[in-house]
Amino acid sequence: MIRENVPLKPFNTFGIDVNARFFAAFNSIAELQSLLDDEIVRNSKRLVLGGGSNMLLTKNFDGIVLKNEIKGFELLSEDENYYYVKSNAGEIWHQFVMHCIQQNYAGIENLALIPGCVGASPMQNIGAYGIEIKDVFESLEAVHIHDKIIKTFTNTECHFGYRESVFKRKEKDQWVITSVTFRLRKRAVLNTSYGAIETELDNMKVDNVTIKDVAQAVINIRTSKLPDPKLIGNAGSFFKNPVVTMSHYKKILEHHNNAPCFPINENEVKVPAGWLIEKTGWKGKNLGHYGVHTLQALVLVNYGGATGKEIYDLSTSIIDDVKSEFGIELEREVNII
Ligand SMILES: Cc1cc2nc3c(=O)[nH]c(=O)nc-3n(C[C@H](O)[C@H](O)[C@H](O)COP(=O)(O)OP(=O)(O)OC[C@H]3O[C@@H](n4cnc5c(N)ncnc54)[C@H](O)[C@@H]3O)c2cc1C
Repeated sequence: MIRENVPLKPFNTFGIDVNARFFAAFNSIAELQSLLDDEIVRNSKRLVLGGGSNMLLTKNFDGIVLKNEIKGFELLSEDENYYYVKSNAGEIWHQFVMHCIQQNYAGIENLALIPGCVGASPMQNIGAYGIEIKDVFESLEAVHIHDKIIKTFTNTECHFGYRESVFKRKEKDQWVITSVTFRLRKRAVLNTSYGAIETELDNMKVDNVTIKDVAQAVINIRTSKLPDPKLIGNAGSFFKNPVVTMSHYKKILEHHNNAPCFPINENEVKVPAGWLIEKTGWKGKNLGHYGVHTLQALVLVNYGGATGKEIYDLSTSIIDDVKSEFGIELEREVNII
C-alpha cells in the first residue's frame, strides 16, 4: 500500500524530521516487483530504505520511499570449510550477526552492533575492526528498478572498495538488493589485532577466546565509544578516512610529528579523519542542538531538532577547515539525500 506524506523521523538514525511524499513497504520480491509496476513508483524519484543509519535527509523527500522488509535467513549449503548463509535484505544486521555466532558460523563477529539492515551492508562494503563485508561476501540478489529482472552479483561484480561498491557508482539507484549470501568459516580465524579488541578481551578475562567473545568485546568497545542513535541522533562515521601519498603524509609530519596513519602500500597511507578533525578544533564542538561528538570526532550528532541542512553545513565547514589546514579533502561517508 502506498501512503502519502509520511514522517521519516522514525526511519533515520539522525532523527531528522522530514516527510516523504509517498512511502511503501514490501516484504517479498513479488511485492517489490508489483510496486515497481505502479504508476506512482515509475513516475517518482525512489529511495530504497533499510535502517536509515547511513543517510542524512536534508529536505522533504519528493518521491517514494521503498522500505525493505523482506525477512528471513537460511543455511543454503556447506562444504569442507564453509557455510553458505543467505539473509534476506530486511533483516537487522546485528541480529543476523548474533544468529551466525549462535550457530558457530565464523567471520562476521567483528562486525557486531553495526546498525542497519543486511541489504545495505554491501552498498558501502561495511567494515569495522579489520573486517569488511567483501571478506565474507559470496553473492547478492537484486531486482532492477526498471525492468524488474532478478540478477545475482558475485563478489567481483560488486567492485568492493573502502566503503564503496558498484551500487554507489556505476549502478547507483538501479537495483534493490533483496538478499545477501555470506561464506562463513567452519573453523574460526579470529582477528583481534585491530583497535582495542585484545585489551577488551583481557578485561573480560576469557581464556579460550571464541567468536562469541570477540563479538562481545566489539560490542563493549562500540557501546563505550559511539553514541547510541536511540539517545543521540547520528549516522556513525560521517567521513571516510582519507588516503594520501607518502610525501603528503611526510609534509603533515613536519608540523605534527605524532600524526597517525595506516599504511596502504609503499606510496600511500590512510590518515584517520577523526584525528584531522580533532586537530582543526572541531571535536566536541556543540552548536546548540547539533554538533561534533565529544568522544568521537568522526561522528556528527543531532541533540534534538537539528535540520539535515544544519548538519550538512557543519560537515562542509569541517571539510573546509581540514582542507586549509592539511590540504586534504575529506569525503562524506554518509549518503546525502
Ligand atoms: C552508531 C553507528 C555506527 C556505525 N558504525 C559503522 C561501522 O562500524 N562500519 C560501517 O561500515 N558503517 C557503520 N555505520 C553506518 C551504517 O550502519 C551502515 O552503513 C549500514 O550498513 C547502513 O544500513 P541501513 O540499512 O541503515 O542503510 P540505509 O541508511 O537505510 O541506506 C544506506 C544506503 O543504502 C541504500 N540501500 C539500503 N538498503 C538497500 C537495498 N536493500 N537495496 C539497495 N539499496 C539499499 C539506501 O538507499 C542508501 O543509499 C554506523 C552507523 C551508526 C548510526
